[in-house]
Amino acid sequence: MDPGILIDIQHLHTNFYLREGVVKAVNGASLTIAKGRTLGVVGESGCGKSVTAQSILQIVPRPGRIESGDILLHIAEGDLDETINITDLNPGDPLMRDIRGSRISMIFQEPMTSFSPVHTVGNQLEETIKLHQPEHRDEAPTRVLDMLRRVGIANPERNVESYPHQLSGGMRQRAMIAMALMLEPSLLIADEPTTALDVTTEAQILALMRDMQSELHMAIMFITHDLGVIAEMADDVVVMYLGRVVEKAPVRAIFHSPKHPYLQALLESIPRIQKRTGARLQAIEGIVPNPLDVPPGCPFHLRCPDFIPGVCDEVVPADTTVDEGHTVACHLYTD
Ligand code: SF4
Repeated sequence: MDPGILIDIQHLHTNFYLREGVVKAVNGASLTIAKGRTLGVVGESGCGKSVTAQSILQIVPRPGRIESGDILLHIAEGDLDETINITDLNPGDPLMRDIRGSRISMIFQEPMTSFSPVHTVGNQLEETIKLHQPEHRDEAPTRVLDMLRRVGIANPERNVESYPHQLSGGMRQRAMIAMALMLEPSLLIADEPTTALDVTTEAQILALMRDMQSELHMAIMFITHDLGVIAEMADDVVVMYLGRVVEKAPVRAIFHSPKHPYLQALLESIPRIQKRTGARLQAIEGIVPNPLDVPPGCPFHLRCPDFIPGVCDEVVPADTTVDEGHTVACHLYTD
């Protein structure tokens, strides 16, 4: 495995087995997350972004499960240099629990999903240390205060005694980030962490995440449907559609040289200040197909303006490299 890569996902399939049929939430996705960099994962609701993240942490809710593929985690610390295949571990495996707490952590749109309402913020942060690093339990209160200070919680000595519901939305988000970073993970997964916030608080939380990233040298997997946030946060980007990765590139290429018709349509659908006055925003034709009934061939073919009959509706396009670090899954770019 390339030493610069932290997570290497290969051909991941994660399915949900419903009474109505099988939903292939992640349908053969491959992507990498580089150490210390931010990977933006973008796509409409139901495209498989969050289920990919849940697969990395082995927290896919029932009736879902990882069906096949590899999720390789590279650990290099001092003399330790090893690669663990997360898909080989059971969700309850002690090693998986250790990875989930101390190497990879996750923050969500709604902080109350992470916090218990009946314990103080301080208690819950201390518990993280006591559970994963019992040898450091005596230092826990000091480390908690220090972390609350680093994430910009005002008056940490008082707020450490607060219950989550007593904090404002922005402060709760900061407290959740503090909890996720308590053990200084190598990867922070952020699933739409700012979607519910007003724009000022959103800007502050994004700035905080960037600051903490450079302080802790961690990678971030940033999941969002907002291309504006992607432009601000990501170094690398993957675009997902119906469980597949349809384009991967450094962030600059995503905005300056988008290849996949779906990504081009997404970019056309966002308002821009420079756009001609009176110019209409382009909506993407049609709707995302029912995930229980995914069309054959390219998953985007029912909505694609460049559809090639007899090809796009029959053959699943393979990844084609169009530039260094830039791949696209579309027949327009294959021979
Ligand atoms: Fe459109 Fe065909 Fe490309 Fe799919 S493979 S995005 S249908 S041109």
